[in-house]
Amino acid sequence: MLNDSAKSFIPKGIEFSIDLLSKESIDDIQIKFKVDGRKSYQYEYLNLDNFLENESLKYFFSTERSSSYIPPGSKLTYFFEIFFKDGTSHVTEKKEHIFLDSRFEWEKVEGEIVTIYYHGPVSRRAKKMLEACEDSVYKISDLLGVEKNENISVMMYNNYSEMFDVVVKKSETQANSLITEGQAFATENVVLVDGGSGSALGVATHEITHIIVARATKSSYLGVPLWLNEGLAEFGNIEQGQGYDRYLEWAIDTGRLFPFSSLNRFPGNPNLTLVAYGQSKSFVEFLINNFPEGSMIKLMKEISNKKSIEDSFISSFGVSLDDLEIQWKKDLGIIDRKNETSTSSELNNGALGSCNGGSMGFELSSIILLLLAYFVKKKVNN
Ligand SMILES: [Zn+2]
Repeated sequence: MLNDSAKSFIPKGIEFSIDLLSKESIDDIQIKFKVDGRKSYQYEYLNLDNFLENESLKYFFSTERSSSYIPPGSKLTYFFEIFFKDGTSHVTEKKEHIFLDSRFEWEKVEGEIVTIYYHGPVSRRAKKMLEACEDSVYKISDLLGVEKNENISVMMYNNYSEMFDVVVKKSETQANSLITEGQAFATENVVLVDGGSGSALGVATHEITHIIVARATKSSYLGVPLWLNEGLAEFGNIEQGQGYDRYLEWAIDTGRLFPFSSLNRFPGNPNLTLVAYGQSKSFVEFLINNFPEGSMIKLMKEISNKKSIEDSFISSFGVSLDDLEIQWKKDLGIIDRKNETSTSSELNNGALGSCNGGSMGFELSSIILLLLAYFVKKKVNN
């Protein structure tokens, strides 16, 4: 029997090691591992030149590049395959392990579905977060027709600087101007959240909802329009602020609403991003409150079956997305005054600052990475 192990050095990486008596008869050794939720195994070759007698042979897998990123809290299955010079090979026993952020000593509280990992004297906060997340999982699963839930790991950090090194940063600009409050990794079933933030429960439940949306739409998750995904996530947010509503009002008054068919991507301008969130939230609420209970379940099923968004809406809600949008605008009283609004006024940074009391949360999503994050601006006036 060969002794082997793996150790987390996240955010830097993961170290795999195996004990060998000698390297004489060995041609190659591979470490093969799969992140739970991802489709395939990946493998790397160990360097036999590094072999030293009486020491384990190690392979360090860096998780610092975005292409090899693994969020802390991920479960990995791994094994080694040793290829001998005589053409035979040996596969070590498969092992499973959850890899946490190596910089802290973690404790956990477990619910039926969710496990909250935390460190330091914050067990009461962790329990509160567990309750909120479990409630959200059940509520949103009912709404979207998810019958069975796999476990979800929530890594609760104590402040932003702790979380900074481990979140995926989209760009330098973003890292300089935004604070990430939370990130959801739907494939890996992991949520990262800044538990020290005032809106931690809201952020955690928003992110958990993204994971349930992914489950409700299975492999067609990429087919979920961003506005629908974010609208549902804000519906699942148990601490909704007033911020998005104010941006929605501003957009209505200044004729800046976007057609939902254009909101597969959100605009880069922060003010307009907040508008996109605000109208997505409002529209999803309208759909949930004004149509029969099973409509959202049907919509998720249709998207899962890879129907187009247009067809999915018609078969679930009985009318097209455009018609639903008109109904929503009527409900808000927008349609009648549409023609008298001005489009010339600009919301400047001062006006942005005046919304400070509400939710300033603003999120950028990369559909390709299946990664959904929750940001707040670092400084309101910069
Ligand atoms: Zn989101």
